[in-house]
Amino acid sequence: VTITAPRETRANEKRVAVVPAVAPKLEKLGTEVRIQKGAGEAARIPDEAYEDAGIHVGKLELGKADIVLSVQAPSPSEIRKMKKGSVLLSFVYAHREPKVVEALMEQEITCFAMDLVPRITRAQAMDALSTQAALAGYYGGLLAATNLHRILPMMTTAVGSIRPAKVLVIGAGVAGLQAIATARRLGAMVEGYDVRSEAAEQVESLGAKFVDTGVSATGEGGYARELTDEEKAQAAEVVTRHVQNADAVITTANIPGRESPKVLSEEQIRGMKPGAVIVDLAADGGGNTPLTRPGETVEEGSISIVAPLNVPSLLAEHASELYAKNLLNFLGLIVEDGEIQLNWEDEVIARSCLTHAGEIRNEAAAEAVR
Ligand code: NAD
Repeated sequence: VTITAPRETRANEKRVAVVPAVAPKLEKLGTEVRIQKGAGEAARIPDEAYEDAGIHVGKLELGKADIVLSVQAPSPSEIRKMKKGSVLLSFVYAHREPKVVEALMEQEITCFAMDLVPRITRAQAMDALSTQAALAGYYGGLLAATNLHRILPMMTTAVGSIRPAKVLVIGAGVAGLQAIATARRLGAMVEGYDVRSEAAEQVESLGAKFVDTGVSATGEGGYARELTDEEKAQAAEVVTRHVQNADAVITTANIPGRESPKVLSEEQIRGMKPGAVIVDLAADGGGNTPLTRPGETVEEGSISIVAPLNVPSLLAEHASELYAKNLLNFLGLIVEDGEIQLNWEDEVIARSCLTHAGEIRNEAAAEAVR
């Protein structure tokens, strides 16, 4: 089978879906890989590095590839240039992209959406949501540190000691746990909060304190469910006290297939310490606060709300490397001896599939697009 990877065209996207390091394994699967000239440029991977690894570099010929590997979903017009019935591996976020989904159906593309890969143990090596979120969380910790007008660690000097900063991380999934670990390494006193009470153990294993509100919202598949109004009020009361004490709050809360939940109110933000910083890592889904402006830093009095878009792309080299490996592992499920073999009995294949043979195969996505 032939595989291609385009140069990403969306704003802010510096990652690339194939890196030279995966070339030998792609060859072992019996595939021939051609990537678009300059595909790795934004991730600082020159064309020559691909060529040296045995990957062809040239013009993008979507219509000739059996499999297209991409970070962000190609545009509807690019999808219409793909071979009918070919395979696409990419992040899609169908609920935000009805036109992309429509084009995928029209072109009868078998699309495996990386954002639909089930969070089960067997799929861990293909779990691109996790590899990318881990990097984003790490960067969130750094952003908190560099946007504060104070240092994170305790420091003893001849004129006295400085107390460590307090960092509160809201949402202790993959990104939140990395944000906690990073803030800890930088010397902050860290607290973590999540609506899922099982997150407590993970937060504590990183040496942070868990904020227990007495409300748990564990939903399907380990994801959070929406809270009732009563539960929200109870949790907010406890969280508010911790927000008021924090120098920095890093928010990473998400509910799959939905806009980001608002985890801080205007009132809570106005009640923060002077000079406090909020790093909102949920900007791509609209943000975790009502004052967030995705892609911008806003000042609310002396409080800053930092909300970068597509954070993994800011670490394009490592983000691409990990993403390319996730895709390689997924390809291992669907390519055998140079042939595409789709085993629909395989839970990972079945649940990751967004579209196939002109139909939407994922119920939640179908509902969101309707
Ligand atoms: P996510 O990005 O969907 O959400 C981030 C976190 O925000 C979650 O922990 C969620 O509980 C939390 N959250 C949602 N609403 C909130 C609110 N109102 N207030 C505070 N927190 C809120 O999550 P994720 O990082 O993708 O992880 C989702 C789940 O998948 C977790 O249970 C994680 O442990 C699990 N997981 C499993 C595997 C595996 O076994 N293969 C791999 C990765 C993740």
